[in-house]
Amino acid sequence: MKSLKFKGCPLCSKQEYPIIFSNDFLRILLINNQNYPGYCRVDLIDHIKEMSDLNKKSQNKLMKTIFLIEKIIKVYINPDKINLASLGNITPHLHWHIIPRHFKDNHFPNSIWSTKKRNSTKEFSKEEELQFIEHVREKLS
Ligand SMILES: [Zn+2]
Repeated sequence: MKSLKFKGCPLCSKQEYPIIFSNDFLRILLINNQNYPGYCRVDLIDHIKEMSDLNKKSQNKLMKTIFLIEKIIKVYINPDKINLASLGNITPHLHWHIIPRHFKDNHFPNSIWSTKKRNSTKEFSKEEELQFIEHVREKLS
């Protein structure tokens, strides 16, 4: 499959976050510079804007991975809630945020992109980050 790329798109460019898994269809990243340990993002490799632009098979393949990551986060992180979000208003390239949420996190009960409500800091140490990445890779294999 020839990959569709869009010049100037941050998702079509080199990624700054650790890549947990990648193939020619999607990649799973750990968004590790947030106060949300275990926050993952699933990017479609091709520069496609809407879920309905994908055929049924690809829609199912993508959602299956997202639900699998949600489940892995649920068990490993044990958050109070998990947010699934696909916005793409700024970057119209299909990607899903899978965000573990805690009652005491900086934005709860609002979205993580809303105004901060408190100042809690909670980050993975480098070692916890590597353990999490290893764990997700194991579960995916
Ligand atoms: Zn793109």
